[in-house]
Amino acid sequence: MSMTGKVYIVGAGPGAAELLTLKAASLLCTADVVLHDDLVPQEILDLVTSSAEIVNVGKRCGRHGTSQQQINALMIESADRHQTVVRLKSGDPTVFGRLGEELDALREAGISYEVVPGVTAATAAAAAASFTLTDRRVASALVILTGHNCHGQSLSRALLDPEQATYAIYMPGPDYGATARELVRLGLDESTPCAVVSNAGREQQQSKLVALSELESLTGVAPPAVLVVGRVVRVQNFLASDFAQRVIGVHPEPAPF
Ligand code: SAH
Repeated sequence: MSMTGKVYIVGAGPGAAELLTLKAASLLCTADVVLHDDLVPQEILDLVTSSAEIVNVGKRCGRHGTSQQQINALMIESADRHQTVVRLKSGDPTVFGRLGEELDALREAGISYEVVPGVTAATAAAAAASFTLTDRRVASALVILTGHNCHGQSLSRALLDPEQATYAIYMPGPDYGATARELVRLGLDESTPCAVVSNAGREQQQSKLVALSELESLTGVAPPAVLVVGRVVRVQNFLASDFAQRVIGVHPEPAPF
């Protein structure tokens, strides 16, 4: 009989406990194991229930900490032994958090998981300094980049090659066709996968997965919705998440890539 637990990959936000989501805070109270990164401060670890096992799996630049493989193994092993495993990452786990590698490992091991968002550094920084990341008068795009890159490509290449970028497009409708044409004009391939996520993080959230070429014929997207375009949108992840399972029932034919 399998008693495998669930791994919650949780965003701890930028560091202040009061910027945690309520969901993150409640998971810290119920976790059996917390595997956290270096950047997560004590103030947040103090919220973890005293019976939980807390492990720092931080990788400290250049010094040998825990390797990604060891972290993956630790997550899987913890889920084998415990009900609730929290993998706690600074900011938001989907931004430069090696989430892709960890989800691959969990999926391969057949372990259920859920990703809990957090306030990412860019938005926290903008709030702290009272500036806006987008401004309809001067800045209509936000491309999130890192100074480091796992393949050693230069920044300029990542910037100039649309195949190397993710576009998070807010207010993509109601004319999805116009948005799609604009992206193709930018140089994106028509087969590029697109996720249209409406009411993200809310009870009625819905997600549709289509190719860029199919975006035009998309109907019935409830606002507010965000469109994420790029090769990061992968059908395997989509099908494996608890949330997409529910949505697949409504839209049974995600485009094959
Ligand atoms: N997942 C995190 C980013 C992890 S990469 C997020 O969404 O924020 C780590 C980098 O994030 C740091 O090197 C730093 O550049 C940035 N960062 C994380 N927390 C930060 C904070 N509180 N203030 C400023 N930058 C931060």
